[in-house]
Amino acid sequence: MAQLSLRGIKKRFRDTEVLHGIDLEIGDREFVVFVGPSGCGKSTLLRLIAGLDPISDGEFVLNGHRMNDVAPSRRGIAMVFQSYALYPHMDVYENMAFGARLMGLDKAEVERRIAETAQMLRLEPLLKRKPRELSGGQRQRVAIGRALVRKPDVFLLDEPLSNLDAALRSEVRLEIAKLHREIGGTMIYVTHDQVEAMTLADKIVVMNNGRIEQVGSPRELYETPANTFVATFIGSPR
Ligand code: ADP
Ligand code: MG
Repeated sequence: MAQLSLRGIKKRFRDTEVLHGIDLEIGDREFVVFVGPSGCGKSTLLRLIAGLDPISDGEFVLNGHRMNDVAPSRRGIAMVFQSYALYPHMDVYENMAFGARLMGLDKAEVERRIAETAQMLRLEPLLKRKPRELSGGQRQRVAIGRALVRKPDVFLLDEPLSNLDAALRSEVRLEIAKLHREIGGTMIYVTHDQVEAMTLADKIVVMNNGRIEQVGSPRELYETPANTFVATFIGSPR
């Protein structure tokens, strides 16, 4: 189970406020997609949820527990970055094992989880390779696999397809959708691509300038956009 509540979340970097009070409820097993133009605060919000940056104001509650001061490794949340962020000196196996060991899992359990994940993502032939010996699509699958091995309740994916070419993009997109069906965790997925948002999301959150413009199903946003920003962004006919 993973239910998230964001209550009045603000983020400041020095004197500049970049998130101006985000209120949002995310249900268990929901696939939520954050969309919005570059610089509107999507990555910042994910980093707050992951615990990689401190929240300036407001409250983040996960399954009834306040998370503001909980360490990232204890949140049950894993993040996949746009730039993969694989460790270049470690092979694929070690990349996948590293975070799981940090969680305190023993060697045999880590090994079991990697075998399972590698099979699911077709990574078995790649386990001994270094990141530089992989294609972009393979690196992204390793980055996803590394997060999966931790068996998080919540999966954060920050523009995971943006470095892939068009063909790979639809392949990995299908893989992510399948993953969500199979593992059933709560997914929060960031993109600036409307097509990704419309095809993947149960719920879309449209952001602009550090605020939420509208929350709704793809259909709701398309048929009844709250304002011209949403209409234009979603590509609605109105
Ligand atoms: P998005 O992911 O939607 O493109 P970001 O969350 O990366 O947007 O950025 C939102 C705003 O916060 C931008 O104006 C960006 O310049 C600013 N910002 C992000 N990270 C930092 C940081 N570490 N220090 C200062 N400003 C930052
Ligand atoms: Mg970003």
